[in-house]
Amino acid sequence: MSNHTLQYCFGPVQSRRLGVSLGVDIVPHKTCTLNCVYCECGKTTHITTKAQEYVPVAGVIAELDKILSQQPAIDVITFSGSGEPTLHSGIGTIIDYIKSNYRYTIAVLTNGTLLWQKDVRSRLYNADIVIPSLDAATEHAFKKICRPSPELQLEKIIEGIAQFKKEFKGLLILEIFIVPGINNTTEELNALADAAHFINPDRVQLNYLDRPGTEKWVQSVDVKTLQQYALYFAPIPVDIPGTPEYRLLELRLPLEEMILSTIERRPSTVEDLAYSLSKDNLLVQQILDEMLKQGVVEYFDEARGRFYKKI
Ligand code: SF4
Repeated sequence: MSNHTLQYCFGPVQSRRLGVSLGVDIVPHKTCTLNCVYCECGKTTHITTKAQEYVPVAGVIAELDKILSQQPAIDVITFSGSGEPTLHSGIGTIIDYIKSNYRYTIAVLTNGTLLWQKDVRSRLYNADIVIPSLDAATEHAFKKICRPSPELQLEKIIEGIAQFKKEFKGLLILEIFIVPGINNTTEELNALADAAHFINPDRVQLNYLDRPGTEKWVQSVDVKTLQQYALYFAPIPVDIPGTPEYRLLELRLPLEEMILSTIERRPSTVEDLAYSLSKDNLLVQQILDEMLKQGVVEYFDEARGRFYKKI
């Protein structure tokens, strides 16, 4: 992973939930079925429900081979990025290829909106962890938060996730993003809890704004309030990032080490690092400046900006 010509893979990054994760991004930036108000990647520029081979499967597999043949010390390969990975018609082929040739855990972060389609569900069967999101269980809240493609129907989406849970042999974590003022009323939480009980996930994760969302009006929620909301979902176990219990799940490496391990494999700009490590640009810049002084890193300038690499 010492070159900087990767097109589809990124990281490895320290994921709060999954440990050291090699990301795989197989749809073009902001190609998605939704346009969520809280999306940290900005507005959806290509809203679609049409599955296709957005990037060549052979190219993704060749890049994965190049990386995985070096047996990198990663915990998981995660299909995620800045769009909806199940829009790629070849995701199943790529997952199956990794499973047949390497021994890594595979996770898929999806918005779950296409799981009502049998072929989409079957493409994910060989993953180990699937994390679909469901931010609303009423049409009103769904439209306000997720601003879906007009072809999508919420009822079908909930049924699709539930059907997938029945068929899938791995771990299914249902992620719910709380947008205060929209999906945190008693009525909305009751509807979400009913949907969660119907889906029957292994766990629920309650998320909240941590980095700037697409719309500035989206507010965060404090952990104590989320702990109250968690009661709606009982007896399903609920994880809340930021709580002491959740931190126990985290693999905590000092930020300096995480930066070094990333740029050792892939030279990155401050913005790349800040994004992948979920940190502030300024903080990352300060750490890199210190490392420059210590002679641990160097940089080179390219059209996209200043890239740092380990010496
Ligand atoms: S589903 Fe994910 S990528 Fe798509 S708009 Fe919502 S948060 Fe962003």
